[in-house]
Amino acid sequence: MDYTEAKLKAEELRNQIKVNNEAYYVFDSPQITDFEYDELFRELKKIEEEYPDLITKDSPTQKVGDNISKEFKEIRHNYRLYSLDNSNNYDDLKKWYERVKKEYINEPELELVTELKIDGLSCALSYENGILSLGATRGNGIIGENITENIKEIKSIPQKLSKPINIEVRGEVYMPVSSFERLNEENIENGIKEFANPRNAAAGSLRQLDAKITGRRDLHFFAYTAILTGENSLFKTHEQALKLLGELGFEVNPNYKLVKGINDVIKLCGYWENERFNLNYATDGMVIKINDISKQNELGFTSRAPKWATAFKFPPEEVWTKLNNIELSVGKTGAVTPIAELEPVQLAGSTVKRASLHNFDEIQRLQINIGNRVLIKKAAEIIPKVIRKQENEDFGVYKTPDKCPDCHTPLVKPEGEVALYCPNSLKCPSQIKGRIEYWASKEAMDIDGIGSSIVEKLYEKGLINDFADLYKLSIDDFMTIDLIKEKSADNLYNAVQNSKKPSMTKFLTALSIKLIGKETADLIANEFPSLNDIKNAKIEDLVKIDGIGEKAAKSIVDFFADENNKTILNKLEEYGVTPQGSAFEKISNIFEGKTFVITGTLSQPRNIFEEKIKKLGGKTSSSVSKKTSYVLAGENPGSKFDKASSLGVIILNERDFNLLSEGKNVNE
Ligand code: AMP
Ligand code: ZN
Repeated sequence: MDYTEAKLKAEELRNQIKVNNEAYYVFDSPQITDFEYDELFRELKKIEEEYPDLITKDSPTQKVGDNISKEFKEIRHNYRLYSLDNSNNYDDLKKWYERVKKEYINEPELELVTELKIDGLSCALSYENGILSLGATRGNGIIGENITENIKEIKSIPQKLSKPINIEVRGEVYMPVSSFERLNEENIENGIKEFANPRNAAAGSLRQLDAKITGRRDLHFFAYTAILTGENSLFKTHEQALKLLGELGFEVNPNYKLVKGINDVIKLCGYWENERFNLNYATDGMVIKINDISKQNELGFTSRAPKWATAFKFPPEEVWTKLNNIELSVGKTGAVTPIAELEPVQLAGSTVKRASLHNFDEIQRLQINIGNRVLIKKAAEIIPKVIRKQENEDFGVYKTPDKCPDCHTPLVKPEGEVALYCPNSLKCPSQIKGRIEYWASKEAMDIDGIGSSIVEKLYEKGLINDFADLYKLSIDDFMTIDLIKEKSADNLYNAVQNSKKPSMTKFLTALSIKLIGKETADLIANEFPSLNDIKNAKIEDLVKIDGIGEKAAKSIVDFFADENNKTILNKLEEYGVTPQGSAFEKISNIFEGKTFVITGTLSQPRNIFEEKIKKLGGKTSSSVSKKTSYVLAGENPGSKFDKASSLGVIILNERDFNLLSEGKNVNE
C-alpha cells in the first residue's frame, strides 16, 4: 500500500470504527461482531505503524474508545481508566512478555496474574470511609457517565465496605448468560427488540434513566482493580489487591491464577478457550497483568492502555456465514425439525457446517431463507445456533413445509405445541428407522453395534419393520449386509440376544413414547412394579406420580391403547424381551387387580404399607371411588373413611389387612 492509499484506508477505517463505537457504546446495539471490530482496529494499527505520521490525535488507536450519551450527568474520573492492548495469537503474547522482560533482565521470569476477561461493562466505583459515593461508566477514560443510582441497585456491589477506607474499585458489570436468555425470551413475548449478547443486555440494563428498571435485571459485578487513595498501601501485588477486594465484600472472579513466565499463561489461554462455554457468564479472552505493583508503576501507560497488562482474545464465538440449505429431519416421534446447512466456517476453533434452527416458528422469527447471510454462535451444546440474519438482505422467508419430507403425508400441529408432526407414524420410514435406532441406542437398550447405518440397511432389505423384529434376526440375516462378515454378524446377533432382560427404565425409555425420556421413564418404573400395571394405568394413576404431568400421562395411556403398539409389545414378549421389575419386586399376586386407599394413622409409615401392597401385585390410590377395592383405615381416619362407608367399599383395619395379605379370610 502506498502512502496515499494508506491515508485513504486509514480514514475509512477510523470512520467505520467511529460508527461502530457509537452503535456499541451509546446505543448498546452493535452492528458487527466483536471479532470484526477487532479486525478493523488491527488493520488501522498496522497502517499507523507503517506510516506513523498518519496517526491523528483523535484516532481510536490513541484513546479509550467510549462515547458518552447525553442522558446521564458527566463526571471527571479521579484516576484515568484505560483500555487494554490485545492480541489473538500466542506469538504476539510472547512478544509482549519479551518487551516487558527487557526492562528486568536480572530476573529469570516475571510473576504474572491471569484473569478471565469478563465481557461486560467496566465501571469505576468510589468509596469514602468505606461508603459508596460514586459509580461511573468508563466513558472516554477521562470523563464518564454518573450512574451511581443504578450501581446501587446491583446486589453484588457493597454499599458499605468491611473497612472504612477510601478506595476506588474497578470491575465489570455483567449479566449471567441464563438471565440474558430469559430476558430475551421475555422481550420476544412482549414484542421488544432482543439484546444481541449478554454484554449489551448488561449495558442496556445498567444505563437506564429509571434505576428501578436496573434493579429488576439480574446484574452482577466482578471487581478486578483497587486503587487506594490516601491509605498506606494495603497491598504490594495485584494478587494481594484481589484478595483485599474479596475481604472488603466484593465478588472477585475465582478463576485468576498467579504464574511465572509466559508458558503457563499460554496453557491457561488454551484451557479457557474451550472451558469458557461452561461458564454462566460471557468471557471474550484472558487478561494478563504484571503482579508486582511497583513494576506496574514503573512501566506505566500509553495514551490508551497500560504497558504492564495485555489481553489475549479468544477466537470468535460468533461468525457470519451463508445459509446454503435448510434440511428437514423427521425424528422418531414424527417431529419435523429444520437444520441449517451452512457454508463451512471456523468458529471458536472448529469448522462448522450445521446449526440448529429449533423449529419453524424460529425461522419465522428470524425471517430467514436459503441464501441469507446469518450470524451463528457457539452454544454450550455441540451444535451452534443461528442468531440473526444480515439486516439489509431480502431473500423472503423459508416456507414452512406442509408435507412430510419423507413420506409426503400432510403435517399436523398439535394444539399447544410448537413442533410440526408427520402423523403417519406406522409407515413413515424416517420414523420407523428412528425408533429402531433409538431402541438400540446407549440411552435406551444400549445394543452394541446397532447404529443408523445397520438399521438403514436392515430396513431397506425388509428384514425389520419395528424394534421387536431385531430379535428374530438370525446370524445369516446380519450377513446379508454388505461388508458384514461372520464374526461381526455373530457379535451383532449376540448383542441383540443379550439385551432381552433390560431394566424397566431402559425398556420404557426405549419404546419412544412421546414426551417420555429416560428421567420420566425412571419415575414410572419406580412407581409401578410390572409392565402390566403400566399398561393398565389410567391418566389419574399416572399424574399422581410426582413429576408426571397431564400431557405425559395421556401420552403413555395413548401409547399402550394403540393397536400397533400392542402388536409390537406382544412380539417382544413372544421373543422373550421382558423388562425386569422395578423397585418393587413382585412377590405374589394376592392383591392382583385390587386398589387400596389408606387413611388414618397406622403402626408404621404409610409408604411401608404401600410398598407391601405393590409387592403383592396391588395398586394404591389417594382417593376413594367406586373402583376402590379396600380402604385401609388407621387411627383417626379422615373423610376417606366416610366416603368408603357411603360407597360400600370394604374397610380394613391393620389386623384385617395383615390377615388378607397372608391369604387368610377376613371376617366381615
Ligand atoms: P477493551 O474492551 O478491548 O477496551 O478491553 C479492556 C476492557 O476489558 C477493560 O476496560 C475492562 O472493561 C475489560 N475487562 C474485563 N475483564 C477484565 C479484567 N479481569 N481485568 C481488566 N479488565 C477487564
Ligand atoms: Zn412422514
